Amino acid sequence: MDKLIKNGILVLPQGHSKGDILLQGEKIKAVGGGISYDPEGIGYNPLNTEIIDAEGCLVFPGFIDTHTHFQLDNGHFTSPDDFASGSRAAILGGTTAILDFATQNRGETLAQGLANWHAMAKDKANCDYGFHLAISEWNQQISREIKEMAAAGVTSFKVYMAYDNLRLKDSEIFQIMKKVGEIGGILGCHCENGDLISCLTDQLKAKGEMDVRNHPRVRPAQVEAEAVYRYLTIAEMAGVPVNIVHLSSARGLAVVEEARSRGQEVYVETCPQYLLLEDSRYELPPRQAAVYVFSPPLRKPADQQALWQAAAAGQVDTIGTDHCSFNITGQKDQGLHDFTRIPNGIPGVSHRPQLLYTYGVAAGKISLETMARLLSENPAKLFGLYPRKGVLAPGSDADIVIWDPAKTGSIKAETQAHQVDNTPYEDFKVKGAVRAVYLRGRLAVDDKGLTEEGKGCYLARGKSLLFRQK
Ligand SMILES: [Zn+2]
Repeated sequence: MDKLIKNGILVLPQGHSKGDILLQGEKIKAVGGGISYDPEGIGYNPLNTEIIDAEGCLVFPGFIDTHTHFQLDNGHFTSPDDFASGSRAAILGGTTAILDFATQNRGETLAQGLANWHAMAKDKANCDYGFHLAISEWNQQISREIKEMAAAGVTSFKVYMAYDNLRLKDSEIFQIMKKVGEIGGILGCHCENGDLISCLTDQLKAKGEMDVRNHPRVRPAQVEAEAVYRYLTIAEMAGVPVNIVHLSSARGLAVVEEARSRGQEVYVETCPQYLLLEDSRYELPPRQAAVYVFSPPLRKPADQQALWQAAAAGQVDTIGTDHCSFNITGQKDQGLHDFTRIPNGIPGVSHRPQLLYTYGVAAGKISLETMARLLSENPAKLFGLYPRKGVLAPGSDADIVIWDPAKTGSIKAETQAHQVDNTPYEDFKVKGAVRAVYLRGRLAVDDKGLTEEGKGCYLARGKSLLFRQK
């Protein structure tokens, strides 16, 4: 049975307007201003078509979150959202594809790292999924594996400048960039100066200042800005475009803009938490403050403002969540007297579209088209999924979100789809909500929730479609 979604406001790259979408099998067959009965042509056959009325609703391409960490084992704790619950939360909020960070731990090959993550996701995912590969060790053998990873559908990689068990030397980052450039992929980076963070942490430790409030003190905006500058300098020397994940500060952004003004091709991701929350949260009582322990930490209102402006102006390319949920009870609360023991991360994969719609679109900060670009189109392009995903166009996967802008509510840990006991957005008012979600043409979410389990597919991805002007 084909499906005809009628009378919605279609959010297309060139603008939004009322129209219809015809779905056939897993694909979009037609997008138009009024698709009529025409069995011979591009229209629909009423005998074989389910009509879905989207009057009063917005129709978005399925949202893509290219920054999740499901079932993450940080060496002490495992994050409670696995691929089943994480992807369920994702699709319930309108996100039809996620890219998770598979990690090659030291001593492993890239292939082993990838296989570990495939095993965690297999048969569990409720939305489509793919993997970036985080590289934590570099040598000749691993260098040869980059090509094999591309053949296995992994064209994006990540390096860390922070965390002693993950970070690499500048010379290694330089070599990885070149290698990833050769396969037409893109290298992302966690930009924070890990050496300085360790030094600042040791200084506080010596003074016995280890409560939660100190978390942002060891990771000031300078350690981000310095790392961004170094990373982009390395990229300039390697002669390749690069991506910066979870950019949090106005200072970091200024470094990016400076590099761009010299002609460098730099992609930037930020996250809802850096747009919507500020560092005063660390002054809350320790149990509440621990919710906000993630890295980079929260910044000042001026940073939020700079990031919103950058998002509206096209200086920020994607918004991912960095979803990495940990419970307060039994996990984060183990570090209330030593902030270095608090597992870093927050839930967010379910709430990103609602937060961006409410505090971006409805608040007049960004347009509908910008929201679709940041959450669907740009992630699909940068990570080799376009035009299969990320756009409402004939031939694309029929990943579709019917969004009711009139619905209102508020975010609560108790009622969220994430499988944890906290949310950084507790009591945030939201406007707009999912009415229905289609995943490759199948109804995946309706007013009762998820319609069927485990229908997500692995996404083998192609080369990055670079869209920034050099
Ligand atoms: Zn992350």
